[in-house]
Amino acid sequence: MEMQKKQDKQQPSHENMMMMMMDIEDASASDDKTSADYYFDSYSHFGIHEEMLKDVVRTKTYQNVIYRNKFLFKDKIVLDVGAGTGILSLFCAKAGAKHVYAVECSQMADKAQEIIKANGYSNVITVLKGKIEEIDLPVAQVDIIISEWMGYFLLYENMLNTVLFARDKWLINDGLVLPDSASLYVTAIEDADYKEEKIEFWKDVYGFDMSCIRKQAMTEPLVDIVNQNQIVTDCYLLKTMDISKMTTGDASFTAPFKLVAERDDYIHALVAYFDVSFTQCHKLTGFSTGPKSRATHWKQTVLYLDDVLTICEGETIVGSMTVSQNKKNPRDIDISIKYSLNGRRSLISRTQSYKMR
Ligand code: SAH
Repeated sequence: MEMQKKQDKQQPSHENMMMMMMDIEDASASDDKTSADYYFDSYSHFGIHEEMLKDVVRTKTYQNVIYRNKFLFKDKIVLDVGAGTGILSLFCAKAGAKHVYAVECSQMADKAQEIIKANGYSNVITVLKGKIEEIDLPVAQVDIIISEWMGYFLLYENMLNTVLFARDKWLINDGLVLPDSASLYVTAIEDADYKEEKIEFWKDVYGFDMSCIRKQAMTEPLVDIVNQNQIVTDCYLLKTMDISKMTTGDASFTAPFKLVAERDDYIHALVAYFDVSFTQCHKLTGFSTGPKSRATHWKQTVLYLDDVLTICEGETIVGSMTVSQNKKNPRDIDISIKYSLNGRRSLISRTQSYKMR
């Protein structure tokens, strides 16, 4: 994962951890390791789990969903897809689930086992170490599937496929998938300073033209926190996914958008973010990773535009976004954006492609 970030936090970030783990693996591993192996290995280190557990927006929402809706869990068989440290399984067991199967493919499965034992839940939670796609579950069906599968830009890492696989294989007919709804949004921002620093930088590097790298930098979405006063337009709901009904194909789509400027400003980038919700709760519960909400470890995803759009209040950017799995590496995502502005001060129509990898 070679995503760039605006500032490094003191806490190792998700992507830093991934890179650190790659370094560690590089030093010790034999040459036949592939990036797919590293993907699973990176979750073996506690650092990445520490970051997720300390993301209070994320973890507290799951905890609230489970503790405040005990009626959903009472006497139910639960499957925790990608259990990590086992935190969601522990929440479910504490809420009264009859049995929880905690499936985790990384080495963290061994720690989850220890944690579950140390907390006295060994009789309720069974840890299964392995990939969901390969394990034998001791039961034919489960009542509830719970998972925290979301990646950057919602779909990066493509763990959604794993959840859908588990749903189709083991979930009873009227079973629950938690969360059961995820939506992707887009908005537009002013980001002159940072575009200058990260993108235009390559045009003149100590007097030399390195524009070929600028082109490449433009195709890489940037995962970072966007300040809400950078937002120039309203936001647009691109796509809502019903996790309990969708197919894997639904994660690839083209969706139109329309963004209306809320002030006179310049636009340098589009920003994508998502929210998830648990619609089966007594009261609708969920969280947003948008720039107006409390920051999460997913931050936002910034897609720089080739042109600077000079937009006037009330003017509209119309376009569409296409999201698809990369054919060679299904964990990567290809994004294509078509946009046009037919404004008083800018007349622009363009298509740009990006790759999350
Ligand atoms: N549920 C934990 C961890 C979430 S991170 C929590 O909420 O804190 C997602 C976890 O899923 C990682 O630990 C990763 O190793 C695991 N995972 C990803 N793909 C998997 C697969 N195909 N089978 C089993 N586990 C998987």
